[in-house]
Amino acid sequence: MQRSVPQTFDRVLSSMCTDPHPAARAAAERFLATNPGDPATYRDVAELEADAVATLGEMTGLADPHGYVTSGGTEANVQAVRAARNRRRGDVSDPNVVAPESAHFSFNKAADVLDVELRLVPTDDDHRADVGAVRAAVDDDTVLVVGVAGTTEFGRVDPIPELAAVAHDAGAFLHVDAAWGGFLLPFTDRAWSFAHAPVDSLTVDPHKCGQACIPAGGLLFRDRSGLDSLAVETPYLESTSQATLTGTRSGAGVASAAAAMDELWPDGYRREYERAADLASWFAGELRSRGFDVVDPELPLVAADVSDSLFAALRDREWRVSRTDAGHLRVVCMPHVTREALSSFLADVDAVR
Ligand SMILES: *Cc1c(COP(=O)(O)O)cnc(C)c1O
Repeated sequence: MQRSVPQTFDRVLSSMCTDPHPAARAAAERFLATNPGDPATYRDVAELEADAVATLGEMTGLADPHGYVTSGGTEANVQAVRAARNRRRGDVSDPNVVAPESAHFSFNKAADVLDVELRLVPTDDDHRADVGAVRAAVDDDTVLVVGVAGTTEFGRVDPIPELAAVAHDAGAFLHVDAAWGGFLLPFTDRAWSFAHAPVDSLTVDPHKCGQACIPAGGLLFRDRSGLDSLAVETPYLESTSQATLTGTRSGAGVASAAAAMDELWPDGYRREYERAADLASWFAGELRSRGFDVVDPELPLVAADVSDSLFAALRDREWRVSRTDAGHLRVVCMPHVTREALSSFLADVDAVR
């Protein structure tokens, strides 16, 4: 095996990463040696970060966004929990976060590092947050309610306006995790963003459907005070305070996010969403016609019930596929996933079942 060359994306069907846009690659290389963690010294990349945050705000319905380009969805979610905990300090001594069980495992990490209780509540029959169950789990010590807009396993969008109402009735904040879905949902009629509900904070990752290079996640707050609640003083830098979790950060990630969005927002992303949505509905139909139980794709992610032996046989044929907790095969229609690739996957399904 030649270790100096990475694998291709040909058989990668379950990943939420993809081949970056050429403009994103070029920008990443140019800005490799810059550190947006010290914006007063590395001013050019700091300006690109401001541009990226402004575009993320436009995408998510926020004219005056406060946020930054994180290392990924995990950092953004950890920071959202931290901000909510900090903002309710003084009112709440034993903080908890309420999230649907479909929430990404990064919330388990957040709860662990921040010593906050995570209350995971069951989802409904269609894999969405159950508003009644969330309401029952919330109490006076709840600092944050989480809704997911594009779940990692099934691509589901939780009822965000209803969850916001539950959160705010309890004096808690509402965070939307759109790490994967954020670059797809602007082209749907779903209610998911700052424009649709009084969302307080939101995760949206350029390094997933934004076609930026890794690492490039995004965290946005509606109010300045959200970001301010994360700031610490920074004695040895040119700038005097820092709200990010990491110190030195990837200028490559920031520059590539700005370049990808400059290139693709909104028309390029719209075209890709439409392509992926068509592909997912075609693929779901193909699987159904073969007798598989398929979860109806809401976003371009197809989950289907497959046997252990079929799953193992497909892995043996070098398909890079994964399963949900309940055992469904997941195919995520990322930009590198083509109809040709899925046709050849189906031919293997037919050959081995
Ligand atoms: C991928 C994902 C994350 C984690 O993002 P990373 O960039 O892998 O840290 C969080 N939430 C959702 C919904 C995701 O799909």
